Amino acid sequence: MGSSDQPLHVPAGRDIRLADFDADYHEGLDRDAAEAETRRHCDALDELAYRLFAEAKRAVIVVLQGIDTSGKDGTIRMLAGGISPQCLDVKSFKAPSALELAHDFLWRVHAAVPAHGRIGIFNRSHYEDVVVVRVRKLVPKEVWKARYDQINAFEKLLADGGITLVKCFLHISKKEQRERLEDRLRDPKKQWKLGPDDLTDRTRWDDFQQAYDDALTLCNTEHAPWHVVPADKKWYRNLVVARLVRKTLEQLDPRFPPFDSRLLTKLD
Ligand code: ADP
Repeated sequence: MGSSDQPLHVPAGRDIRLADFDADYHEGLDRDAAEAETRRHCDALDELAYRLFAEAKRAVIVVLQGIDTSGKDGTIRMLAGGISPQCLDVKSFKAPSALELAHDFLWRVHAAVPAHGRIGIFNRSHYEDVVVVRVRKLVPKEVWKARYDQINAFEKLLADGGITLVKCFLHISKKEQRERLEDRLRDPKKQWKLGPDDLTDRTRWDDFQQAYDDALTLCNTEHAPWHVVPADKKWYRNLVVARLVRKTLEQLDPRFPPFDSRLLTKLD
């Protein structure tokens, strides 16, 4: 695949293989140009999110998936810089609690779906239930295999209810992950971010890539498509996600509710 034409989205029904995507792709842009464009998108997002909030009929969920250090937190910081907190819900999905495990795997996800008018950001999501759960063998194969269809049905339910999903896979290379992990190991301000599982998970790199290939391929639907975001360059990753969220909101084109002009006569 040429580096000047890397798609962000693969049509539904086609195989997605992460090995075909260059994690360092950046359209030939430089950092300054990308950051300037990202700021413009964030400025536009503020107004669009405000209109969505005022309209209060639909919602958006930005789903962020990716292996450890892929930049989920940084992406959230970028989006939150552009959108008023009253319009935003950020939800991080950790290993399920005993209560969550006593329910079906989508129970906690459905509960976190934003109310109409809001933008939700999912830091990890129900995709952990077909990726980490598969790689770490936390449930039998027949259980996680059935989940692709269950996820597609769940996302269709959301789409039919006016919830638009913007699913972003933050794609970094194995080499870039090594550098980021090394940075975390050495930087006292970042060491706390490292858990015992992070280095073990890296030894299962190929298994994670395979699990993501399958999740991205099998859950890449018309109603909830996946985007493979090149994320080795943090500034390019931010640009791509900002563009996507802006485009999504522009297509929704939220409207302020109609104004009742009788109110004009009521102010003494
Ligand atoms: P993060 O890495 O997202 O900053 P943590 O270090 O707390 O946050 O990691 C959260 C962990 O929870 C990850 O290892 C992730 O794979 C795990 N996790 C999330 N959802 C599930 C799930 N459904 N089943 C098992 N583990 C999960």
